[in-house]
Amino acid sequence: MSGSQGENIGTVEEMIGLALSARRIVAFTGAGISTESGIPDYRGPQGVWATNTPPTLGDFLENEQARLDYWDGRRARYRELVDRKPNEGHRALVRLERAGLLRAVITQNIDGLHQKAGNSPDLVWELHGTSHTVRCFDCPSTWPADEVQGWLDNPGEPRCPDCGGIIRAATVLFGETMPAVPLAAAMAAANDCDLMIVIGSSLVVNPAARLPVMAKQQGARLAIVNRTSTPLDHMADIVVRGEAGATLATFADFLTMLP
Ligand code: NAD
Ligand code: ZN
Repeated sequence: MSGSQGENIGTVEEMIGLALSARRIVAFTGAGISTESGIPDYRGPQGVWATNTPPTLGDFLENEQARLDYWDGRRARYRELVDRKPNEGHRALVRLERAGLLRAVITQNIDGLHQKAGNSPDLVWELHGTSHTVRCFDCPSTWPADEVQGWLDNPGEPRCPDCGGIIRAATVLFGETMPAVPLAAAMAAANDCDLMIVIGSSLVVNPAARLPVMAKQQGARLAIVNRTSTPLDHMADIVVRGEAGATLATFADFLTMLP
């Protein structure tokens, strides 16, 4: 179905048609699957990008003020992120997993909502890490983010209680390499699926943009569900312009009711 721009825009029913013969579905999610849970996306008008640019790795390591601003940001916004609940889009992916149709959930999100919804942690590959854990740069220590949030009652920058090192959430900062294990697992999943569904990602950075291309190159079908256009729309078998939650709910309803 792919071809010139616009030719492959379709409906969720057509996306279901595409999935009927699929047995190894891989979901690839971005910030757009969590906006219906109340977490702003990155590049939208209310996005983090517009309101609060995160620090680069270099800034974080070399600039104390950047770290103080970072921790002030977590003092102000951490609860807002971790108290959010999964929405029907996340729950639809759980239903697909329970029906034995889902091989992996590759996510760029750091909100942990796929696991909170009930996807098996063994199936979820977090390319950009997680906000729910804090780790030290200088030693292997890690802590649940909730515990570290208690330390933030004290002013200033928290340090590693074990070695005095700089600590940070276990999310990938700009300029930092992606964690090797989830990236390798995500590539393996992209290479071994028969349908990849991309949900709520602007697909403008790598490897986000590379994984659907890999899936397509090895013969899988590609479906993209997004409110707005993406640079990979032209190579998708179908593009559904819609809300992630309602689209995935209809998709999962149909596929999980099949005998
Ligand atoms: P992005 O913000 O660049 O793109 C989100 C895309 O989803 C946009 O194209 C937008 O039009 C679409 N969208 C938004 N809400 C939607 C909805 N309800 N239904 C359908 N489409 C919707 O997100 P990205 O590509 O994931 O890149 C952002 C980066 O920022 C990620 O790498 C992630 O680490 C981080 N981030 C994570 C979260 C989170 O964990 N929830 C939130 C913001 C940013
Ligand atoms: Zn340490």
